[in-house]
Amino acid sequence: MKRHAFSTAAFSGALLGAAMFASPAMAQDDEQFITIGTGGQTGVYYVVGQSICRLVNRLEESNIKCNAPSTGGSVANINGIKSGELDMGVAQSDVQYQAYNGTGNFEGEPYEELRAVFRVHGEPLTLLARADSGIETLDDLEGKRVNIGNPGSGQRNTMEVVMEAKGWTEDTFSLASQLDAAEQAAALADNNVDAMVYVVGHPNGSIQEATTTVDSRLIPLNDEDIDGIVEEYPYYTKSVIPGGLYKGNDEDVETFGVAATFVTTAEADEEVIYQTVKAVFDNFDRFKRLHPAFENLDPEEMVSEGLSAPLHDGAARYYREQGWIE
Ligand code: GLU
Repeated sequence: MKRHAFSTAAFSGALLGAAMFASPAMAQDDEQFITIGTGGQTGVYYVVGQSICRLVNRLEESNIKCNAPSTGGSVANINGIKSGELDMGVAQSDVQYQAYNGTGNFEGEPYEELRAVFRVHGEPLTLLARADSGIETLDDLEGKRVNIGNPGSGQRNTMEVVMEAKGWTEDTFSLASQLDAAEQAAALADNNVDAMVYVVGHPNGSIQEATTTVDSRLIPLNDEDIDGIVEEYPYYTKSVIPGGLYKGNDEDVETFGVAATFVTTAEADEEVIYQTVKAVFDNFDRFKRLHPAFENLDPEEMVSEGLSAPLHDGAARYYREQGWIE
């Protein structure tokens, strides 16, 4: 597809003598390679991408070969789709909105070819602090060492919204580190930071790793500045991280959050996107079993909620066939 589209038929001309009788791949015409942008390996996006690819690669009647490498997260995925490095990607619903409409970090540059495919799991903004840091509320982050996330990640994007609402800058913290999602649990455990921020589905490997290696607490984000954010922006909602998922964190924790969404570009091949969503929804029970964060997913909600860019034509074709949309 796009720059990843290698047709074995096209190759055969160039490789004629050597490859024609030697390569079993020659039997398959028009092999399409697609790349899905995910996130850090201890997050849930990585599992979303790997799970979609697993189902796509099982398809008998198509020649799509799917891979889903680890990436910097939502913003990096949308930029990767825009530049042609990625065909599809996972992105937070707030980042999808901002990219399509040209607001926030995408100010003045609306990406009108961005297309929604489906919504996935909910992602609360998750603030985890070392128990010995003295942090009990969001405001206690002032003067502390905080990992605000790598540029390109969704948590960095959403944390900047929180910082703006609070009137904070990076100088508000004694250290504002920019570690990748997969590095932050170790940084917390090694006492290199007091707190980490992650917009992520639950349960996930990163928070599990942190809470099992260092005494640490999920901190609520429920003050009036957070209420203001939820009122101001349609894509933020109040949310709760259930108690009992992580060691030392038995109580529910109130916060706010977004949804993970699966996106592509209008330029993506209609049939490839159709086959991709068909692979997921024809095998939906199998998909749901691939991660506990997928447990409560409902197909009709997934194709109608949390999406601000228009549906891709190939996805819409499948959803119409199922009677999920008009
Ligand atoms: N929400 C994060 C981001 O957009 C990724 C979370 C995950 O990998 O599960 O960067």
